[in-house]
Amino acid sequence: MTFPQRYLTSFGPKDTPHLFTDILVIGAGIAGVRAALEVPPDLRVLLVTKGRVEQSNSAWAQGGIASVLAPEDRFENHIEDTLAAGAGLCNREIADRVVREAPKQINDLIRFGTRFDLENGQLALAREGGHSHRRIVHALGDATGAEVMRALIDYASRQPNITLWDRRFTIDLLTHDGRCVGALINRPRRGKLSVWAKQTILASGGAGLVFRETTNPPVATGDGIAAAYRAGARLRDMEFMQFHPTVLYLAGSARHLISEAVRGEGAYLRDKNGNRFMFQDLPEEYRALCAATEEEGKRFLQGDERARRPPELSPRDVVARAIVRCMERTQHPSVYLDLSHLPPERVMQRFPGIAKVCRGFGLDITRDPIPVRPGAHYMIGGMTVDLEGRTSLPGLWAAGEVTSSGLHGANRLASNSLLEGLVYGASCGRGAAVEAAAMPDRFVVPPVASEVVSEGDEIDISDVTNSLRSLMVRKMGIVRDRAGLMEAERTVAFWCRYALGREFDTRVGWELQNLLTIARLMIWSALQRTESRGTHYRSDFPERDDTNWRKHISCPAELPETPVPPP
Ligand SMILES: Cc1cc2nc3c(=O)[nH]c(=O)nc-3n(C[C@H](O)[C@H](O)[C@H](O)COP(=O)(O)OP(=O)(O)OC[C@H]3O[C@@H](n4cnc5c(N)ncnc54)[C@H](O)[C@@H]3O)c2cc1C
Repeated sequence: MTFPQRYLTSFGPKDTPHLFTDILVIGAGIAGVRAALEVPPDLRVLLVTKGRVEQSNSAWAQGGIASVLAPEDRFENHIEDTLAAGAGLCNREIADRVVREAPKQINDLIRFGTRFDLENGQLALAREGGHSHRRIVHALGDATGAEVMRALIDYASRQPNITLWDRRFTIDLLTHDGRCVGALINRPRRGKLSVWAKQTILASGGAGLVFRETTNPPVATGDGIAAAYRAGARLRDMEFMQFHPTVLYLAGSARHLISEAVRGEGAYLRDKNGNRFMFQDLPEEYRALCAATEEEGKRFLQGDERARRPPELSPRDVVARAIVRCMERTQHPSVYLDLSHLPPERVMQRFPGIAKVCRGFGLDITRDPIPVRPGAHYMIGGMTVDLEGRTSLPGLWAAGEVTSSGLHGANRLASNSLLEGLVYGASCGRGAAVEAAAMPDRFVVPPVASEVVSEGDEIDISDVTNSLRSLMVRKMGIVRDRAGLMEAERTVAFWCRYALGREFDTRVGWELQNLLTIARLMIWSALQRTESRGTHYRSDFPERDDTNWRKHISCPAELPETPVPPP
């Protein structure tokens, strides 16, 4: 079987109903809704999302959106912080453009109705790891995404040219004559529908669900990235998955993210014995950048430019690896976040959401240590796009976490991704609208069809899905090596042989096929990059190798056949 196969399911012009639109936007997170809002009223937009509208990474975002707004801050500082986090792979031109557009995008969000938190009548600005200044705009304390998405969706649903469909699963992108011409969508109870669009914008988010431990909501199964790969769009840097260092780790609880902003307010990380371990578990070069005493750390948090940051505010990948090292050393499945030394009223005002979740498990965050461990958080790799958001496939645009735009390099700076979704969402909406407006209405169905011959007995979808997600944590997680990656590659290729050849007619089946596709691409890319950089850490190649690897890794259009492991 070739990998990838072109379509997941059978369809044809004579047995699938059709719908025509000017612009199809797939995904109703920040990037998709922002794109739809940029389209002028004389063009019809169909905005589809596979779950309920409030299910997206965007709606779950906590900390906020980075923007240079403080008088003492400069665009150059934000650009330099972004490049430093990106470990040599950011595109400076892109970082420059995104950072400079941030204040405008924040103003637009306010215009659309977002109520950001204020301090003395001004936008309140928080600080997060890797940022040299306070520049994170937030809402409802730690529920920024929920408030931003409430406002955006509310505003979009009042626009007569935008139709929002929830619970519509995009199975595949439709292509004809080398162009994207829309998508095949599944509707609950009514089945498949071919949507033919003059321009299509993919804003379907990331793929955290490839890993067992993840901060992402269940919709993040990488469907859009996998569909784009099947359609022939170029992907790159799939080895870079950002793990968030602090994900709530309590038996029976969902894996809630405990925002970086908690450490930005001064929380400490402690091991099971109560020791602050970060300094000890940091690599030498990072130790030199950190405050040597609690006093110096406090001065940094109060804005003293000469003081060094507390070790807890090192870049995310560095903190995540230090936590893994600590858990191995102490033989304990988690470490602990401690806020007990911070003023309780300030903690409750800044983190009401986290306080509520923890209270549900009997923890008072102003007093009790919070058990945390790292989890998959943000997909850095994805579709290559140009400055405006055009993909390599004509007619297809992409914005947000589904892309590898060049902003994040090998590691994303905290709170830069909502911003990226806004900037690229807006430019995709603008660009797609210009091109759609130049195309005449032609209500003719292209001769696109697919026939999938399903082979074999039924398989237990959830069993394969769970096995895949566990394997990915073990072999493709925070620390990787060749032997583990090779084992993962053979196992996933084996699962692909029997799970990709089948025709499913349920969302969970298609999601499994997409997760397997993403996993294969991630593992293949991680095997190629024989160095450590940003979020990609190889214990067999622990050094960064700028001579050979200061470059992106593009996924081949087809992956070679991989030998199947012995039973
Ligand atoms: C817990 C958490 C906290 C975060 N906090 C922050 C933060 O404070 N600041 C920050 O900058 N970033 C944060 N991030 C990252 C940020 O939220 C995401 O990177 C960003 O929201 C991605 O936006 P998006 O529009 O690209 O994708 P999403 O918001 O994930 O939206 C994707 C959309 O595509 C839809 N979709 C997916 N597959 C299909 C399909 N097959 N068919 C139809 N629709 C489909 C989904 O239903 C969803 O509507 C956080 C992420 C998480 C998980």
